[in-house]
Parts: sequence; structure tokens; C-alpha cells
Amino acid sequence: MTGMTSSARPLLNRRLAEFGTTIFAEMSALALSTGAINLGQGFPDTDGPEEIREAAVRALRDGRGNQYPPGPGVPELRTAITAHQQRRYGLGYDPDTEVLVTAGATEAIAAALLALVEPGDEVIALEPYYDSYAACIAMAGGRRVPVTLRAHEDEGCFRLDLDELRDAVTDRTRLLLINTPHNPTGTVLTREELAAIAELAVERDLLVVTDEVYEHLVFDDAEHVPLATFPGMRERTVSISSSGKTFSFTGWKVGWVTGTAELVTAVRSAKQFLTYVASGPFQYAVAEALRLPDSYFEEFRADMRAKRDLLAGGLEQAGFRVFRPAGTYFITTDIRPLGESDGLAFCRSLPERCGVVAIPNAVFYDHKETGAPYVRFAFCKRIEVLANAAERLRKAFAH
Ligand code: PMP
Ligand code: GLN
Repeated sequence: MTGMTSSARPLLNRRLAEFGTTIFAEMSALALSTGAINLGQGFPDTDGPEEIREAAVRALRDGRGNQYPPGPGVPELRTAITAHQQRRYGLGYDPDTEVLVTAGATEAIAAALLALVEPGDEVIALEPYYDSYAACIAMAGGRRVPVTLRAHEDEGCFRLDLDELRDAVTDRTRLLLINTPHNPTGTVLTREELAAIAELAVERDLLVVTDEVYEHLVFDDAEHVPLATFPGMRERTVSISSSGKTFSFTGWKVGWVTGTAELVTAVRSAKQFLTYVASGPFQYAVAEALRLPDSYFEEFRADMRAKRDLLAGGLEQAGFRVFRPAGTYFITTDIRPLGESDGLAFCRSLPERCGVVAIPNAVFYDHKETGAPYVRFAFCKRIEVLANAAERLRKAFAH
């Protein structure tokens, strides 16, 4: 009897009962078993810079990081992270007390929520939300309160309604869990929106956990502004980022937290019992990656923008309504113009219909009916792969 003990008590505890296998695992397995082009799970199909790969090999060979690194992360990486925050955003952090290296942003999110949330606390998250948020809020015993980003079809984007956000705050709200650039919608919160979020956090004395893993993936005239830069925010914000997206090494799982010593110490209290430490030799390589010249970041962005435009054009020609992302490497589409309305069923049938895998946004919603018609495609793939996928979608759907 799967999932049951002999006493018929469910095996999986109640907090996790609503979470099955993550959609990323399900859809990547589907891509493998059908041989379809995988535009589902967000990982690049080419590795990051060769010199950074070589830096990891060198660290391994030189015996740096092959044994447990220090709990907060190797000093070289912590210094590189603070230098990056200073250089890009003018944010000053102490590498000894205000930085924590984690096993990807995923562990940082888990540790932050486990550290800061008491059972019964409300956590406001932007819906659609990255799937680990819901699971980690649940593991911490918190109650998630989604605030929905609304589709603005006329503008081709999803936007936060600040009044809805304000209305969602109650006396039980402990923290705001923000994500910008936003996965899966591609929305980049504007300076004005972020200022309003900051004012609200200060006024209601809320903690903020901000997931900024796509900080370097913003396009056109969009600008990434870290929440921690706004007045009153440095002391209440746990900022999270990761090397996976920026340097195209998602398997290395090197992420980090920056914040005041008090906040970082709290997050470390949880993190030390999750992995304790991870990714020793890769930490040295990521330290080098963070010091790459501005030209690396500019070229990376330009390359991804071209890929976005290629896939967005293909999806439009196939008949999807496309929400052109201002950031991240995902495109959210509306499938209703194709005469479809159930994104989950659509994604499950897509490999058979045309040999492409995508992600149904409904899994990132509490309001499933709101999310039902949206489907996400990743464009962090080689140009020829994207062109092939676009052609398959056009053949299957354009008339
Ligand atoms: N946050 C968001 C918004 C993501 O899209 C992802 C997946 N890349 C993560 C966190 C997890 O990052 P990592 O792979 O560094 O754990
Ligand atoms: N962040 C990646 C995405 O949104 C997936 C990471 C994962 O598989 N957990 O596609």
C-alpha cells in the first residue's frame, strides 16, 4: 500500500501531504522518456565560462574545498559576494558576519523560512510562486498568503497590485517573500513598486525575504533594484541569490544570503542542520566568476535577450498569447487563443503532439483556476534548439 503504514496512518506528514513530486522532475522525466525538447525545467543546455570550469578543476586538484569548508562559506567567496554587492548596488556587507553561502538558493529559502517563521505565522508570497516557497512555508508551519500578479494583456505583462498586497497584511503577517525578477511570469518589479513594498514592510514592521536569483537577467529598459537598497530595508531584509542562473552552472548549487549579522546568524542556525556545508571546490570557482568583468554580464544578457526574442516570436506565430518577459529566462504564455484552457493537460500532451515540454503555471498557484491557462517555456537553450522547438509548435498549432 503505497504511502501508508500498516496502521493506515499516512506515511508522509501532514505538512507535506499536498506536495507531490515537483513539476520540474515530472516534466524533465517526460522529456527524457519521449525524447521531446525540454523547455520545461530552467537549466541551460550549455555550461558557463570555460575559465570558471577550469577554476573548479584547479580547486579540486589543489585540494581546496575537498573537505568540509567553513560553515559560512569559504572566505574567498564571501569576499567576492560582498565585493559584487558593493560594485553592482552600492550595498556594503561584512564578509565575516553578513554573508552565508548555501547549497543553492533553494537551501537559502528553506533555511530563511525555517529560521524566521513560527507555526501559525502568515507569509505573503507573490502568486504564481516558485514551488519550493510553498513547501518551505509548510515545513516551517507557516501559513502562505498568496498575492496574485495579474495578467495585463494590453501591456503583455503580469503586474503586482499594491492595494492587494497591502490588504493581505494582517497582525499575523511575519514576512513578505518577494521574487524579482519573477519566475515564472518574467515580471521585474519597478523601482516605484519596490519602494511601496519597502514602505509597507517598514510601516507594518515585517521581515522581507527576497529571492533575486535572476538579478543579472533583465532586458530592454528593465532594471533590477535590490529591495535591500531602499530606506529601512537593510535591517529587515534577507537577500538571496545564486550562481546557478548567472553563470550557467545550475548543478553546482552555490547560493548565498546577505543581510545584517543578526539575520544571517538566524538563517545560519537553520542552515547548519540542513546541509551544514556544500559544494566546497565550486565555491572557489564561483568566487572567480563573481569577479568576471562587466562584459561577461552584458554578453550573457544580450545572448539571453536574443533567445527570448526568438522563442517569443515562434510562440506568437504558433498562436500563443505571449507575455514578453522583462527578466528571467522564462516566457509565460496564455493558451486560450489556441482553443485550450487547461495548462496541465496541455503540458502533459505536448510531447506527443509536437515533441516539446513546457511547465503548467497552475502548479504555482493556490488559485488554480486563475493559473490554469498559463504555460511557461524556458529559453535558456541553444539557438538551434529554440528554432527547432518554435518550428514544431508552429507546425502543430498555427493555421
Ligand atoms: N528561486 C527561483 C525563483 C528559481 O527559479 C530557482 C531555480 N533556479 C531557485 C530559487 C533555486 O535556485 P538554486 O538552483 O540556486 O537552488
Ligand atoms: N528553478 C528552475 C525552474 O524554475 C527549476 C529548479 C528545480 O528543478 N528545482 O525551472
